[in-house]
Amino acid sequence: MIERTFVIIKPDAVAAGHVGNILNRYEEAGFRPEAMELRTIDGEFADKHYAEHLERDYYPPLREFMTEGPLVAMILSGKDALLGVRELNGLTDPSKAAQGTIRADFGTSVRTNCVHASDSPESASSEIGLWFPGRA
Ligand code: ADP
Ligand code: MG
Repeated sequence: MIERTFVIIKPDAVAAGHVGNILNRYEEAGFRPEAMELRTIDGEFADKHYAEHLERDYYPPLREFMTEGPLVAMILSGKDALLGVRELNGLTDPSKAAQGTIRADFGTSVRTNCVHASDSPESASSEIGLWFPGRA
């Protein structure tokens, strides 16, 4: 099934110069950008994106990290994009992510794990609505 998912190349990966390499992984797997923008977000916007995480102890430093510099926000589309992109990304903790995944190759900690991707059709639709309202 052709699906859309919402993806972020996080500020750590933008600062380290991995945007091209990460985009390449998605394109080589057949996913195509429908929208893409370099953006710096503030804390209130981060709170909306990570609404389900606000009460977690890891959230304050995560909020700081996500707002500290530019990130690349995008909508990717393609066959089974939701699961496919999360598989390319790998597990949340880069030290546990399978070899060859984006997080294993470019992530540096469980927080600074270089990418985000929607985890369900519902989260894709709410994240696309938040980040790219004109595309919802
Ligand atoms: P994922 O991004 O793999 O869907 P989660 O939804 O569980 O992971 O968490 C959202 C983000 O919060 C993660 O990508 C990571 O940046 C951060 N995070 C999650 N768990 C931790 C943790 N234990 N310590 C620090 N940061 C975390
Ligand atoms: Mg998640």
